[in-house]
Amino acid sequence: MSLRFGFGFSRPPRVMKIDVLTLFPAMFAGPLDESIVKRARQAGLLDLRIHNLRDYAHDRHKTVDDRPFGGGPGMLLKPEPLFEAIESVAREQTRVVLLSPAGRVFNQSVARELAQQDDLLLVSGHYEGFDERVRQELADDELSIGDYVLTNGALPAMVVIDAVTRLLPGALGDDASSQDESFSQGLLEYPQYTRPAEFRGLKVPEVLLSGNHAEIAKWRTEQAEQRTRERRPDLM
Ligand code: SAM
Repeated sequence: MSLRFGFGFSRPPRVMKIDVLTLFPAMFAGPLDESIVKRARQAGLLDLRIHNLRDYAHDRHKTVDDRPFGGGPGMLLKPEPLFEAIESVAREQTRVVLLSPAGRVFNQSVARELAQQDDLLLVSGHYEGFDERVRQELADDELSIGDYVLTNGALPAMVVIDAVTRLLPGALGDDASSQDESFSQGLLEYPQYTRPAEFRGLKVPEVLLSGNHAEIAKWRTEQAEQRTRERRPDLM
C-alpha cells in the first residue's frame, strides 16, 4: 500500500513494529483482529508480534515466577526468562515499555509520543509484577493505564496498541479524525448528532443544520469548552 501526498506523488507508509511479551498470548487474538487495528495490520502500517514469555523458561516446568525475597504474598516474575526474552526480541532502536500500575499514566499525549516510535516492545506482567532488576536494566519506560490493578498486563498492552495504532498516518479513514477528538486540543469533544434531525421529540441544535461553517465551528468550540469545564476541569 502507498499513501498519496499533496504533491501528487506517493511513498510507502511507515511501518510501526510492536512486539508484546506476555504469559497470555491467546488474550490478544480477538481485540487486535478487529476494526482499525486489523485494517492497519492488513495495510502493513503495523507489524504486531505476540511472544509467549514461557517460551523463554528452560526448566522442565517452564517456571517464570518465584517467591519474593523478604516474604509477602504472591509471586514475582523471575529475571532470567524476562532478560532472555527482552534481549532476544528487542533491537537497538526498540523502546522497551513495562506495563505496571506504578508507571507514568498513559494518556493521549503519551499515545502520540509512542506513535512517533518505529519499534516498541510492551512487556506485560502477571502475579505481583516484575523483579526490580528488569526495570533497572532493560526498561526505557513504564506505563500505567490508570489507577487500578488488573490481573495481568495483556489488557493494558492492548489499550496501548489500540490508542497508538489509530494515530499512525493512514490508519483512520480520515487522519483528521484524530486531530479533532477528545484530548487532541486539550478539550473533550463537543456533542455530535446524526440523522434524523428530530428523534422522539429531541431536536438537533439548529446551528448544526444551518450550513454556516463558521457558526458551527464556534458552537463546537464553546460546547467542548463547557463540557471540559464541567467534567474535566483538570484539563483546562
Ligand atoms: N503488585 C503490583 C503493584 O502493586 O503495583 C500489581 C501487579 S498486577 C496484579 C500484575 C500485572 O498486571 C502488572 O505487572 C502489570 O503488568 C499489569 N497491570 C495491572 N494493572 C495495571 C495498570 N493499571 N496499568 C498497567 N499494567 C497493569
